[in-house]
Amino acid sequence: MILIASANGEVGMAAGWAVLQAGGSALDAVEAATRPVEANPDDHSVGYGGYPNLLGEVELDASIMDGARLRAGAVGALRGFRHPISVARQVLEQLPHVLLVGEGAARFAAELGMAAENLLTAPAEQAWRAGLAGRLPDEFRDAQGQIMERMLARATRLATDPERVAGTVNFIAQDAAGHIASAVSTSGWAWKYPGRLGDSPIIGAGNYADDRYGAAACTGWGELAMRAGTAHSVVLYLKAGYALEDACREAFRDLGALGLPPEQCIMSMVALDRHGRHCGVSTSPGRSYVYQADGMAAPAQLPRLVLGTQV
Ligand code: ASP
Repeated sequence: MILIASANGEVGMAAGWAVLQAGGSALDAVEAATRPVEANPDDHSVGYGGYPNLLGEVELDASIMDGARLRAGAVGALRGFRHPISVARQVLEQLPHVLLVGEGAARFAAELGMAAENLLTAPAEQAWRAGLAGRLPDEFRDAQGQIMERMLARATRLATDPERVAGTVNFIAQDAAGHIASAVSTSGWAWKYPGRLGDSPIIGAGNYADDRYGAAACTGWGELAMRAGTAHSVVLYLKAGYALEDACREAFRDLGALGLPPEQCIMSMVALDRHGRHCGVSTSPGRSYVYQADGMAAPAQLPRLVLGTQV
């Protein structure tokens, strides 16, 4: 059994590990592990307390994948519910769909009996106001101080800063039966255009799991993982016989084909192969990830391998 996560997943490791230790499934473990991260008000990249979009609305993205049968559920731009991962799980379980967005996702969460609430905490609101004040010239606002509708597209280009105000949580688990599951949850790119979805709710982009080969989950600049199909690429490279770190290396090299300057290629990933080997990789130095495996009383941190994106 093994559970791995991005470093901010530390607060959810105990919940996920408890499920695995009790003989639960990898799918239940990654959902259980994600929920404490979504509830953590100090994590401004996920769930409650997440940073909002340009208009100050918290919009959450999440996906969950069951590697046993390639079942998946996802929600995008969900407002007003702190556990998008559990809504995604119920999309997987109850609907003949994979992805619900916006109003439809909120409608489904309400139908599930989940409590609606305001997710914008005072510190997140303050950071949003300060972030926009620092980056948006006065002419973007009307007399009431609101960003003018016709200026939103231009404001998006000025205000968003993936390096400074982004983040996501990733979990991948393998259970005692050998099944693999993965979960990704995020409030996305801070001050994003309303309705923007990142890679996190897109199966194959930010999240993919297949018992036969392994799983990968991304954080970083979501648009890049969407364009390159990054998480699924890792799994395909595993299928092609690459070792785990080499599979990640190839998927990162594919990002080089997007034609961006290397310093703009911001990507991190955790990955697991079907033998339980795991790794964390990043284009940025100094990053870590967490894992817990059989025989360990507590999770441990490991450094991520730094990989380039040159073709
Ligand atoms: N990948 C996320 C997104 O693009 C953000 C992040 O992980 O930093 O929404």
